[in-house]
Amino acid sequence: MLFDPRPKDDLKDVFDREKEIELLKNSLDSPLIVVMGLRRTGKTSLVKSVLNSLGVTYLFLDMRRFESREYFVYKDFLKVLEKEVNRLVRRDRGLLTHFRIKGVQIMGVSVSFEWGREKAELSDVLDALDRWAEERGETVYVVIDEAQELIKLRGYSVLPSMAYAFDNLRNLGFIITGSEVRVKDRFLKLEDEGSPLFGRAHVEITVSPFDRETALRFLEEGFKEQGVEFTDAEGVYEALGGNPGWLTYFGYTYLKYRDKERALTETKRYAKRLLSRELCNFLREGGRDRRRYLRVIEACREGCSWKDIRNSLEALEGREINDGTVSDIVNNLLEYSFLVKVERRYVLSDKLLGEIGNVRC
Ligand code: ADP
Ligand code: MG
Repeated sequence: MLFDPRPKDDLKDVFDREKEIELLKNSLDSPLIVVMGLRRTGKTSLVKSVLNSLGVTYLFLDMRRFESREYFVYKDFLKVLEKEVNRLVRRDRGLLTHFRIKGVQIMGVSVSFEWGREKAELSDVLDALDRWAEERGETVYVVIDEAQELIKLRGYSVLPSMAYAFDNLRNLGFIITGSEVRVKDRFLKLEDEGSPLFGRAHVEITVSPFDRETALRFLEEGFKEQGVEFTDAEGVYEALGGNPGWLTYFGYTYLKYRDKERALTETKRYAKRLLSRELCNFLREGGRDRRRYLRVIEACREGCSWKDIRNSLEALEGREINDGTVSDIVNNLLEYSFLVKVERRYVLSDKLLGEIGNVRC
């Protein structure tokens, strides 16, 4: 069902995206695929649905679970990995035979990763998966969903293992998704000479919000599928914009209440709650000045220029603000994808961000 608010895991429930689906399918022989897109544009849905449709084997490492954490450690990461490996073990016990490696205990029909001094190394785990994949004559995909969260992993870097796998393990493929610009320049660092992944070729797939016409068709199609008449798709697009997540949630609540105003109110409340939480994580992470950032977001509700931003900050503080301070704030908002640059102006990546008002963190 199109209006199911969970990520889709079946291509028949994925609306539009023909090009992205084709590109992902055609790129699966590439060792590194990066799927970029704002939150709730449908990255997880795209990846899961395509992989499921082809019946390929994959591990799904969901890093979003660390979203609200200030940092996390290798043990936390290993637990996620262990759970996914055990999911595969349940499907094929043959995988166990490849896990006679340092830091891994085989207990009955599952593996247990250690994280003390004798910890399981990611490169060894990837090696084991590669051997298993080779034995089965298939490629195994390692999906790292919302990988920018790995920037907060302390005391361990997964990049050297990824680079090792990229160079040596022919039966593994990596699919990385990210909601923020910084997943590329701060996490993967493909263009940073000092980084393990420097210069590795990769395929990039961008998932954008729906444009007006696609959003209207999405709503129409979703209601048609449920045999429900709905006539004000335009009004919904005006209120919510083209984010597939909000449109889906709207459809879902409308089906429940059959009242457009109520469904819009509920959707906005839901959206604002999530956006506030994401903004609060961002503010807390960097110990950032809440008032300044909220003021800039407010100033950019209808789009803004550099000068508008500086003026808004000067009005807030009643003094001159230097260029360095303005550019720090703008760059942080761009890196975390709260702002996007369109031609020479800045706009909010999600129009509802302009409506969250005075968040309490
Ligand atoms: P992301 O991983 O980018 O945050 P999700 O895949 O979780 O996005 O999608 C967010 C919400 O929007 C989910 O409810 C999902 O079902 C819905 N959605 C996103 N893209 C589509 C699409 N193309 N067709 C149908 N529903 C979609
Ligand atoms: Mg997702």
